[in-house]
Amino acid sequence: MNNEFIKKETAVIHKGYLSHQHHDSLSVPLYQTSTFTFSSAEQGERRFSGEESGNIYSRLGNPTVRILEERIAELENGQSALAFGSGMAAVSAILIHVTKTGDHVLCSRGIYGCTFGLLEMMDEKYNISHSFSALSTEQEIEASIRPETVCIYVETPINPTMELVDLALVHKVAQKHGLKVIVDNTFSSPYLQNPLDFGADYVLHSATKYINGHGDVIAGLLIGNDMEDMMNLRMTVQKDVGGIISPFDAWLILRGLKTLHIRMDRHSENALKLVSFLQSTPVVTDILYPFHPSHPQFEIAKKQMTAGGGLISFNIKGGKEAAQYFMNALQLIKIAVSLGDAETLIQHPATMTHSVIPEVDREKMGITHSLLRLSVGLEHVDDIMADLEQAFAKVETHFAMAK
Ligand SMILES: *Cc1c(COP(=O)(O)O)cnc(C)c1O
Repeated sequence: MNNEFIKKETAVIHKGYLSHQHHDSLSVPLYQTSTFTFSSAEQGERRFSGEESGNIYSRLGNPTVRILEERIAELENGQSALAFGSGMAAVSAILIHVTKTGDHVLCSRGIYGCTFGLLEMMDEKYNISHSFSALSTEQEIEASIRPETVCIYVETPINPTMELVDLALVHKVAQKHGLKVIVDNTFSSPYLQNPLDFGADYVLHSATKYINGHGDVIAGLLIGNDMEDMMNLRMTVQKDVGGIISPFDAWLILRGLKTLHIRMDRHSENALKLVSFLQSTPVVTDILYPFHPSHPQFEIAKKQMTAGGGLISFNIKGGKEAAQYFMNALQLIKIAVSLGDAETLIQHPATMTHSVIPEVDREKMGITHSLLRLSVGLEHVDDIMADLEQAFAKVETHFAMAK
């Protein structure tokens, strides 16, 4: 079968793997090896000089990992991908690649807590500065760009406020100024949003989340369109900083990835039903889910996403005390950070994922003590709803809230 022009639903299962090259094994074999043998000293010389292609050492490439990279490149409509040992290894690799001392990174209004930590460290140690912008209009983006800006680093939807950034708009302005655009696409997965199609230069993922989807691996992926640039990244930052993925984790992700499309459809379907339920719940105030007509950015959502995924944030009446009481009253839903798993998870960003961000900055981002983030899982939606319902009822009774 021609592997070139297949749909995403087929690519998650087949792309990059030819069984006849692997003893006809149906499942991708796990090459759990650190190094590879050369048939002669001369062959070793040819492999190192690049005269002959082939495996050398697993930090420079591994057959199981390479299949994962090819599959992900296809899913993001990119030319090339690199796999890393964590989402943060992918984030740090690309930021090291595009910046040098004196440069400035322009970020979306919200970014992942550890990305924030990394940028703070780069500022302190290497004088690479950063700033934040809502990036909502051309004028606003223009005004945020400095002479020393080299890239725009975007998350959309933004964690945990679910605010969107218009990718086509960012690309338009970035192009005018010769800036690279980097998009953290973790929240949508490559099945729901493909930033390279909207002009981004690099897309990255915490594969820990939807891509693996089974809550048993930490990994990251970076995708780009410029083959030469990506090869350069592989042979410099990836090889020499060395934050690579283990073959076993790549193998687990290949296994999880086979159901990405089915999982994302169900996550999105369950989430939409829960948004309607939350809208009818008196103790819940703001429901933040962009792929819904009630959201102010629904038009942007429809333009760049095919569905909303499983993340819903909402505010609960009664502040931190009510939020924590509510979480403790849940029975089926687990209290945990991370997202994109089969299990429905809930967390309290102000005291958990975003607790490292100073309170004033947090409040500006809309991350108050009333905010909860729900990662809707794959259980039957009625069971998720029933659990939320009984916990909301306990909050109403305990805090004597009028219905
Ligand atoms: C989890 C996450 C990361 C970091 O990924 P790790 O795999 O935990 O290193 C980066 N960005 C986003 C949006 C995330 O959710």
